[in-house]
Amino acid sequence: MERIRVLIIGSGPAGYTAAIYASRAALSPVLYEGMERGGQLTTTTVVENYPGFAEGVDANQLMEAMGKQAARFGADIRPGRIKEIDLSSRPFRALDDKGRELEAETVIIATGATAKYLGLPSEGKYRGMGVSACATCDGFFYRKKVVAVVGGGDSACEEATYLAGLCKKVYMIVRRDVFRASVAMQERVLGTPNIEVLWNCNTQEVLGDEYGVTGVRLLRKDGEVFDIQVDGFFLGIGHHPNADLFRPWVEVDENGYIVTDGRTTATSVEGVFAAGDVADPRYRQAVTAAASGCRAALDVEKFLIDHKA
Ligand code: NDP
Repeated sequence: MERIRVLIIGSGPAGYTAAIYASRAALSPVLYEGMERGGQLTTTTVVENYPGFAEGVDANQLMEAMGKQAARFGADIRPGRIKEIDLSSRPFRALDDKGRELEAETVIIATGATAKYLGLPSEGKYRGMGVSACATCDGFFYRKKVVAVVGGGDSACEEATYLAGLCKKVYMIVRRDVFRASVAMQERVLGTPNIEVLWNCNTQEVLGDEYGVTGVRLLRKDGEVFDIQVDGFFLGIGHHPNADLFRPWVEVDENGYIVTDGRTTATSVEGVFAAGDVADPRYRQAVTAAASGCRAALDVEKFLIDHKA
């Protein structure tokens, strides 16, 4: 049985930043990269809003650099994932996908969240070429253009109003004749002149050419099929926090996000901390995830000192 002080699960900005801080504090962290090395950010192309890169930075290069930075200070970065975990008592026990058993004094959960997609083949084909699940990340590329946002919840409304400030026109594709969003968000959308809501519509296909998205084919409840011309297609139908493995042990909110105590990254289990999108339904940015990874490592350091572990 391998005994470790800090087990970090996840390799997005939160996990890698936690590993940078924990390794610099001589805590010898072990980080499991998980299924998607580099996390959600690697599903986008250029990151233009991460501070310090005046010309923007390739998302994969950014994540590669974070991993190398953590490794430089001695973090043990392992491919693969944690398959099973028992957080009932310390030291916590975990099993990786190669059958290796671990005992960890502390755990940082940084497994992120996954944006939901509709699952259309055409949507997959144009991902990164006009199809995006993050308006804050990619909206800038659609300045003065026409875009569509799918969904009727708070996320979709927030994306649509954000995009309306940049784009010539924003269509909202809503599958029912009502929003799910809060009244305040609905009012904001309905009061924005360059947002047009297409009620009772489902997306049949994302249309495009070799340069990317050119339009969307919609099916309205009354049976009418029609096309709209757009340059970008944004998903706003929710995220799934990757917290399933931990749900038997740590408290999650009604949407499945891990609950932290707010002032720190502590979860409901002493010695278990959560950072990044798995505990953040609100901001979901690379820079906020990185910041919470830093906080988690500092929380772990203090915890180990307090518990003389
Ligand atoms: P929600 O689950 O609240 O909304 C998802 C929306 O997408 C619904 O309108 C739903 O339609 C629609 N949808 C789901 N699947 C499909 C599909 N296959 N095709 C078409 N439409 C689909 O997710 P959100 O991400 O919006 O919000 C999650 C939580 O986070 C909520 O509690 C929300 O309040 C909160 N939040 C708060 C914010 C804030 O306060 N600023 C900002 C963002 C989120 P239908 O209604 O028909 O099911």
